[in-house]
Amino acid sequence: MITTTRSEELFERARRVIPGGVSSPVRAFGSVGGTPLVLQSARGAEVVDVDGNVFLDFVGSWGPLILGHSHPAVVKAVSEAAARGTTFGAPCPGELALAERVTSMYPGLEQVRFVSSGTEATMSAIRLARGATGRDLIVKFAGCYHGHADHLLVAAGSGLVTLGQPSSAGVPAAFAERTLVCDLDDLDQLERLFAERGKDIACVIVEPFPANNGLLIQRDGFHQRLRELTTQHGTVLIFDEVINGFRLAPGGAAEVLGITPDLATFGKVIGGGLPVGAFGGKRELMEQLAPLGPVYQAGTLSGNPVAMAAGLAALDELERRDGFARLEELGAGLEARVAPLLAKRGFTFVRRGSIFWMSLQAGEAPRRADAIDAQAADRYREIFHGLQERGICIAPSAYEVGFLSLAHTEADLDRLSIALEETLG
Ligand SMILES: *Cc1c(COP(=O)(O)O)cnc(C)c1O
Repeated sequence: MITTTRSEELFERARRVIPGGVSSPVRAFGSVGGTPLVLQSARGAEVVDVDGNVFLDFVGSWGPLILGHSHPAVVKAVSEAAARGTTFGAPCPGELALAERVTSMYPGLEQVRFVSSGTEATMSAIRLARGATGRDLIVKFAGCYHGHADHLLVAAGSGLVTLGQPSSAGVPAAFAERTLVCDLDDLDQLERLFAERGKDIACVIVEPFPANNGLLIQRDGFHQRLRELTTQHGTVLIFDEVINGFRLAPGGAAEVLGITPDLATFGKVIGGGLPVGAFGGKRELMEQLAPLGPVYQAGTLSGNPVAMAAGLAALDELERRDGFARLEELGAGLEARVAPLLAKRGFTFVRRGSIFWMSLQAGEAPRRADAIDAQAADRYREIFHGLQERGICIAPSAYEVGFLSLAHTEADLDRLSIALEETLG
């Protein structure tokens, strides 16, 4: 008898009324195959699907859940805030509190503006950089993801440092052409680009520890040179800290690297699991925004009191529990367990703090997107399903990283490494 799970039943219904059955593409399990688990609840390090199966979770909703799922402090803050009003469309104490908090944590963050997603944050930061410099060209790196604004859905053109080409239908070529795509781990290319076009480049946007195409750790000196080149040419340096920020250190990647960008963008952790994004940086740049300056930017639900309360509660709890140190301890613990298992097969465990990735190919871990071996995705697919059968969720794509949260325990790390050993065997 073939039985249908409730997940399969609901997903089948969802596919009729939601394109692909999902609200964001990677959730469809396209690259690993199978039917996505439809989740009904989650707590701490565990998620529960609609069939009542419990899984140990290393996806963490793709990054926001640094305390784990439905942390009591966040749930309490959200409930209390909601009872006072879910949205005012007016200044509120919560946004002031979160703004004061994050500007005190992140290097060079003099002012910040809240939005509702990471996409909005990067889109707005780029508009601001263009408005402030009066230049049109922007530079991004292949393999970095910055949300789905038109000018950021751009792939490298043919040849070195060429005009970008749309990587999605619906993005006008004329937009993509104003985005130059560089390779990570290639400073020569950047030097040439700045020598030729530096005075036309409004901004460079980069994920300091790129975590959307594997985890592509850059060599020492990469960011330093990027900082020097942008400063020399009056180009705005934007650190996209949507994943790195408030996860790697109180001051994000900027603190870890000891480099202060002109603007930084945030999302994920800053919202404590609710929809929040933010961008900020130097006062002289930020005051170019409306209502003070000519660069327009707005949002009906921006600075939403419930979302602000969630973000604040998450940052409070992180501080109270010395969370960054504990996350590093957990990350090191996972590395100690898993790295040898992978090394036995010639693979590499890549980690920065609580962000991890398995490089399932021989040789050095990749530092740029095109160094990732396509066969690694086939290996990942087997591991993914092997772990899911053993009650463990990792991201349903070989290119996505895993996240640890303060809800994980050493016992959870043991479970993952034992299941991984069985699966690899
Ligand atoms: C997730 C992500 C974004 C986009 O954020 P959304 O909230 O999904 O719009 C932007 N930049 C980076 C680095 C991200 O990881």
